[in-house]
Amino acid sequence: LQNRLGDVFDRLKKRGALKEADVTAALREVRVALLEADVALPVVKDFIDKVRERAVGQEVIKSVSPGQQVIKIVHDNLVEMLGTEAGTINLNAVPPVPILMVGLQGGGKTTSTAKLAKRLKEKDRKKVLMASLDIYRPAAREQLRVLGEQIEVATLPIAENETPVSIAKRAMAAGKLQGYDVVMLDTAGRLSIDESMMDEVIQVRDAVNPVETILVADAMTGQDAVTTARNFHERVGLTGIVLTRMDGDARGGAALSMRAVTGVPIKGVGVGERADALEDFHPERVAGRILGMGDVVSLVEKAAETIEIEEAERIAKKMQKGAFDLEDMLSQLRQVKKMGGLGGVMSMLPGIGKLQKQMANANVDENVIKKQEAIILSMTKTERKNVKLMNASRRRRIAAGSGTSVQEVNKLLKQHQDMTRVMKQMGKMGGMKGLGALLG
Ligand code: GDP
Ligand code: MG
Repeated sequence: LQNRLGDVFDRLKKRGALKEADVTAALREVRVALLEADVALPVVKDFIDKVRERAVGQEVIKSVSPGQQVIKIVHDNLVEMLGTEAGTINLNAVPPVPILMVGLQGGGKTTSTAKLAKRLKEKDRKKVLMASLDIYRPAAREQLRVLGEQIEVATLPIAENETPVSIAKRAMAAGKLQGYDVVMLDTAGRLSIDESMMDEVIQVRDAVNPVETILVADAMTGQDAVTTARNFHERVGLTGIVLTRMDGDARGGAALSMRAVTGVPIKGVGVGERADALEDFHPERVAGRILGMGDVVSLVEKAAETIEIEEAERIAKKMQKGAFDLEDMLSQLRQVKKMGGLGGVMSMLPGIGKLQKQMANANVDENVIKKQEAIILSMTKTERKNVKLMNASRRRRIAAGSGTSVQEVNKLLKQHQDMTRVMKQMGKMGGMKGLGALLG
């Protein structure tokens, strides 16, 4: 997929503007990417239309190619659609606050009930009571009880001959009497949407008036996600979604589908079977995962924010000629700092993705960069242009001026020397591609 997108974007780049035909070509591939990520078809259509409308005619940012800009527009719209509001559990009500967990069987309801309870207990310091309303499967109630023991959260004692509504009422009464902050109600699911399940959930809802009604759904659900979410939202009324099994291969298309259909926020992401395997929802991450090109997106994002490709190319040319002076190194360091240590201007140039990764991993420490910056700033302009001037007394002066040591000045000069050497070699091997080959 990445290659396919890459091809289209390369073509776009050569034309240099966001014309309708270009955008359409790119979006055709984006469409395939979304479908591959299991986003439901109607959602894909809406999304593509919206992006096309926004993209065509948009001016191209100077520092990125038109193709990169299309990626950014697609990405930004994905993030917007996935939702940017904080996915916290609403507890604004007189305690005990009822939270209703709904969803299909096997979606991860019981597990997610325990995960949320643990989070409420540990992070929000809430006293939580959990109750299973599954009167059909004794094993389901037992499962919640065992989980409760593991995470040290109370569960409502099981009684005979009850209905889901009577258990829910009993849970609320116990919650009130025993001073619980939150009562979590884990409902029984079915293998697919059916009337009796919906009726049952609706009755429980009307009996306890939940502050949150959370749909728990498997991220692998794919095209069915829309049907499930729509049904629960229309019939019961949802306030949030917990997306489970994001630790698996799922690309997260279900998140987009369910969000598009319900408009409710995703309040948690399940990433494993254990009770602590619950994460906050990060729209950017999921958007990147859906597109299958997270790195590209963040790169473009940072590029648009902080960098001028022209500057990168100017430096790269000097590097190739071996004329990379300390002034250039300073500019490079400042870019690295701005980009949060991602690897500097070099990483923005095409064909050196591998190098970029290596640089990003090279553990760029903010303080180290600050020191290096100070050292170069303590040099005169002439010194920066001509490293050969750097004798012992100048080095001592620079160390004193920058509040560092002669060793640190030496280290920086050595680093500059190394970079120059690599650049020269790279020039011989045929430009930027050569650098990739050299380091990859
Ligand atoms: P329920 O029928 O909706 O209550 O589903 P359960 O909570 O019983 O979960 C069904 C299965 O999925 C169990 O084996 C869980 O351990 C597993 N499960 C739930 N959430 C996750 C998750 O986020 N990741 C993984 N890998 N497994 C999960
Ligand atoms: Mg269950």
